Amino acid sequence: MKTISILGSTGSIGTQTLEIAMQHPKEFKIIGLTANSNIELLKKQIKEFRPLAVAVMDREKADILIDRTRIEVYSGIDGIIKIAKLDEADTVVNSLVGSIGIQPTYEAIKAGKDIALANKETLVAAGEIIMNEVKKNNVSLMPIDSEHSAIFQCLNGEDINYVKKVTITCSGGPFKNFTKEQFASVTKKDALNHPTWNMGAKITIDSATLMNKGFEVIEAHWLYGIEYDKIKVVIHPQSIIHSLVEFKDNSVMAQLGIPDMKLPIQYALSWPKRFANNSKPLNLAEAKVLEFKEPDFDTFPCLEYAYEAGGIGGTLPAVMNAANEIAVWAFLNDKIRFLDIPKIIKNEMDSYKPIKKPSLKEILEIDGKIKKELKEAILRQSEADAV
Ligand code: MG
Repeated sequence: MKTISILGSTGSIGTQTLEIAMQHPKEFKIIGLTANSNIELLKKQIKEFRPLAVAVMDREKADILIDRTRIEVYSGIDGIIKIAKLDEADTVVNSLVGSIGIQPTYEAIKAGKDIALANKETLVAAGEIIMNEVKKNNVSLMPIDSEHSAIFQCLNGEDINYVKKVTITCSGGPFKNFTKEQFASVTKKDALNHPTWNMGAKITIDSATLMNKGFEVIEAHWLYGIEYDKIKVVIHPQSIIHSLVEFKDNSVMAQLGIPDMKLPIQYALSWPKRFANNSKPLNLAEAKVLEFKEPDFDTFPCLEYAYEAGGIGGTLPAVMNAANEIAVWAFLNDKIRFLDIPKIIKNEMDSYKPIKKPSLKEILEIDGKIKKELKEAILRQSEADAV
């Protein structure tokens, strides 16, 4: 039996992870849970899964929960790290959203936990440090992402030296056929309406700008040690093929399935085993058409920024990520327009000279600095615009 703590248990990946745990009670036991602020749902989860301890990021909400439950309740980022390190758990699912997830991953690895990683920012901003710690502590790091799960499955039993190219598929998001001009009138509602995947708000906006795909390129680089010029992206609107690996002999392996996050979540926890589940089987005759086309870097510049940031490395991916996080926050709070998102990211990337081989502390410092300053600047600008 695997003993699991889930960081971010009330979010989209967190709740689906608990559904999987419920379907396989003999395989998975829940040890710790954390939430940002949704204590109503967390309380239900406590009742249902009986963890040993929980943490709530929002300290006031944590205080309210303390009065309503008998189990241990921690608060703030320290509390989340406590849950990440609980002795009784052997595996940590990190489904936190944003760079807040970096430190808990790092601490969990240092505490010898296997990681099932949905938090993209961990590898985008601190990939080198994290992968070094994974090796040093002899733990496994499994991706909870359809694309990286697909690549992992295609590489099973293969020698990485025979890989010629990895192709990450991309639904294209809601604006895949848009021209640059059409973006001017994009609303929040349009951007949150993803055609194939049902996900949290932040990642859905990242999917609409293709920043999410850029993140996945950087993650693939760190997870599998593949150079950036060997990582390609192809638009595949049906989201049936989840990624492909091409070998030196021109043979191509792909992994297919319906677009359902429960599949990569379960595999990250069951590997090397596979468990039956109640997800819908793939019917190719029903899918009928599988389409592919090249991504348009000009219309979706965030994808190019990610290749640039990944290629240069150092603190640049962390800068890109922090700028994106604030830009998406600003867009979701009606402070900026959709087209401002890439502009803000590029501006921040050009404003900082990257530090080579940064420490985790330096990465977290630049992350905090950019988020604070950029948020203040956007708020000032939006107040000025309102006058
Ligand atoms: Mg993905």
